[in-house]
Amino acid sequence: MKWLDHLRVRYTLSHYPIPHTAWENLMHEADIFKGLSAVERAHLRELTTLFLHRKTLTGVQGLLVSTEMALAVAAQACLMILNLGLDYFDGWVEVVIYPGAFQVTRDNIDATGLVSHQEQALSGEAWSRGPVILSWDDIAESLVTPHPGHNVVIHEFAHKLDMLNGSANGLPPLHPDMVRQQWADIFTDAFEHLQKQRRHHHSGIDAYGATAPAEFFAVVSEYFFTHPLILRQQAPAVYEQLVLFYHQTPEKRQTEFD
Ligand SMILES: [Zn+2]
Repeated sequence: MKWLDHLRVRYTLSHYPIPHTAWENLMHEADIFKGLSAVERAHLRELTTLFLHRKTLTGVQGLLVSTEMALAVAAQACLMILNLGLDYFDGWVEVVIYPGAFQVTRDNIDATGLVSHQEQALSGEAWSRGPVILSWDDIAESLVTPHPGHNVVIHEFAHKLDMLNGSANGLPPLHPDMVRQQWADIFTDAFEHLQKQRRHHHSGIDAYGATAPAEFFAVVSEYFFTHPLILRQQAPAVYEQLVLFYHQTPEKRQTEFD
């Protein structure tokens, strides 16, 4: 029934267009979209339209999600799957947006079996087959003053891609032309290297990536889209694997832009 899917897509694109000015403003103001070709932008706009139609973006704690806010989330998420397709975000529908960092209580169980409650302030969270939860303050800051390797939308949606084949473990479903063992070796080496660097308080990329393989994949994805040159310099083999996985070369965009 491919033709039916095709008709549905055409219908959505023509009946739920993104407001032109809001789209152009976002494309010009946010660094992350700089360097995209006209064709890539047009494709990103289509994906973003479909994303907004298929997903529910809900503000909580009194936050009203404006068109501009919804676009900022959807377009950054869709940039990740620009050459993969929207199917990569199948299996869940909700994006929950808090005004700022949100408090969560977690049960921690230590080696002796002792359970303790821990309060944490988070800027984002991704649930397997469940919602993506984001802090608007953090999203807004990345749009206005981007810091290399910090982008909560990219981070949480990278977890979603990782979870496509089970729990988040730093190994998303690879393409047929990729070698699983190669990915595993390269990522394990780079992860252990970052752990060592963290112990010496001298890490080339955000040491949060050294907390778990899933966090490593999310953090290097943040660099890949926000500051690919740093990632290529610090972990060239990881960068190359991400080029193969995401099917894009953001470094080229940035070079052309610079
Ligand atoms: Zn994370």
